[in-house]
Amino acid sequence: MCQTIKNMASDSGSIVVVEDDSNIADLASAYLSKAGYKVWQAGDGARALDLCRSQNPCLVILDIGLPGELDGFEVCRTLRSTSDVPIVILTARSDEIDRIVGLEIGADDYIVKPFSPRELVARVRAILRRSIRMADSSSRIININDITIDIDSRKVTVSGSEVHLTSREFDLLVFIAMRRGMALSRRQLLNGAWSNNWVGDERTVDVHVRQLRKKLGEGLNIHTVWGVGYRLD
Ligand code: CA
Repeated sequence: MCQTIKNMASDSGSIVVVEDDSNIADLASAYLSKAGYKVWQAGDGARALDLCRSQNPCLVILDIGLPGELDGFEVCRTLRSTSDVPIVILTARSDEIDRIVGLEIGADDYIVKPFSPRELVARVRAILRRSIRMADSSSRIININDITIDIDSRKVTVSGSEVHLTSREFDLLVFIAMRRGMALSRRQLLNGAWSNNWVGDERTVDVHVRQLRKKLGEGLNIHTVWGVGYRLD
C-alpha cells in the first residue's frame, strides 16, 4: 500500500490525519474509518511527526495551517527527508501559493477546504492504488512479521521455512497482504483473488482464510470484520 511492498509490510495500513480543526479532523476520520482505514489524528506538527514515526502510516493527510512551532510545510519537509509516504495537503481555497509550495516540497496531492469527505476518500484510494502499482514494479517481496511472500516464485516462508499453499490460497494471501489495514468484503476478496466473474458461495473465502491462518500461524493477523469480511493488520 505504500511506496514499496517492503515498506508496506512494516506499516499497519493506517492514515494519519493532521488537522487542528477538530470538526474537519473528525469528519475526515469518520469517512476514512468507514472506508476501512485505521485513522490516527494529530492536532499539531510535533504530534504528527511522533505519530508518523510510531505508526508508519501508508498515507498522511496534512493541514498547512497548524498551531505551534511546526506548520504543515515543516512537517512535510521533515517527513520527506526520511520517508516517501504519500502526503495529501489540505489548503484553504484562497491559498494557491500553499498548494504550489506544498507540491514543490514533496506533497503528492492537495485538497482544497472545504472538501467533500467522499472526495477525500476517493482521492486517498486513488493515491494508494498508484502506490501499489509502483510497489508492484519495484519490489516483489512482502514481509508480514515472520512471513515472507515472494510474488515471483510464489513461495511463502514462515521464519525461513517454506509453507505450501494452494494457488487460490496464495492469490488470496497476496491480495489481502497488499491491502493491509483495509477492511475487505468477501466479494472484494473473491473478485480480487479469484476473478471478477467468479460465481459461487462467498463463504469459500472463509474456508481459504481459515486455511491461511492454520498454515501461516500467528504472524498472519487476519481479523474478521463483523458484517464486512476480513482485515489484515
Ligand atoms: Ca488549520
